[in-house]
Amino acid sequence: MTDSWAIGIDLGGTKIEGALIGSDGSLQHRIHYPTDVQGGAEAIIKQIILIVGEIQQNTGAPIKGIGIGIAGQIDNSSQLVRFAPNLKWRNLPLIEKLAPLIKKPIYMDNDVRVAARGEKNFGAGRACTNFICLYLGTGIGGGIVLNNALITGSNHTAGEFGHLTVQMNGPLCTCGNHGCLEAFSSGWAIAKNARDKNIHQNPDSPLFKQETLTAALVFQAANQRDPLALQIIGDAIEALTAGLISIVNAWNPQRLILGGGLLKGYAPYLAEIERGVRQRALPSACETLELLTSGCQGNGALLGAGVLVFESIHDKKC
Ligand SMILES: [Zn+2]
Repeated sequence: MTDSWAIGIDLGGTKIEGALIGSDGSLQHRIHYPTDVQGGAEAIIKQIILIVGEIQQNTGAPIKGIGIGIAGQIDNSSQLVRFAPNLKWRNLPLIEKLAPLIKKPIYMDNDVRVAARGEKNFGAGRACTNFICLYLGTGIGGGIVLNNALITGSNHTAGEFGHLTVQMNGPLCTCGNHGCLEAFSSGWAIAKNARDKNIHQNPDSPLFKQETLTAALVFQAANQRDPLALQIIGDAIEALTAGLISIVNAWNPQRLILGGGLLKGYAPYLAEIERGVRQRALPSACETLELLTSGCQGNGALLGAGVLVFESIHDKKC
């Protein structure tokens, strides 16, 4: 039963989403808008206030606070969004700017660390003390729960698995490095690789004359056996498998939980990916390993944003 309510917000570079979250994992009045990145920080702050106001007005729930998951590097000791490339933010004191306008406690963290909280409390991480979430979307992010604690690292970047180097001289990544996992297996990379290979100029391709190439379309074309799409998705799967092998060897999680908007595209390949991981990772690291998909029905970050509030009320972490 729900004994407290919070508003959860998932702030990404494409979409800002909010919902009323109950402490029992219920979710109501979900709303979203395209993120106004062009309008700058002030425009996005207005969107957050609009969403909070709309949910409060429509539900009348006595909320305890607002939790925000942000695609970026969050420093909670100084309460700064250090770097959020998709929002074009650097060192933004978000909570300081929101506090006078919302008048409720506000908490924030990296979006996949927030999603790990959602999985731990309501999803595939329940009753598990060692797990890693890898969320595959426009970018790739991770959350590490080790010995029941959510790991942040010394400079708030622990879990940036999208930037694991899987090929030393591979393609350029958005972080400036070459050969990152994200440069092969993320939504932006799959769409870019399709554009670079001019897949839409091949009259035999299902993507012929497609104006906007998205990763979802490339996955669809691969399902229809388009050779170029199969090659791009094959490279994405190989890199993802390599990344997961390194994660399993380095962290020895009991569960690997895959989530995010691209999961639907990867779904037909999950058995192949798991086989690859079990063949190549250290046998002892695989002994009790389970590879699972998110148990939060696409709501991991929203639910986890609610958990950010509840854990501060009860003063309990993760
Ligand atoms: Zn990178």
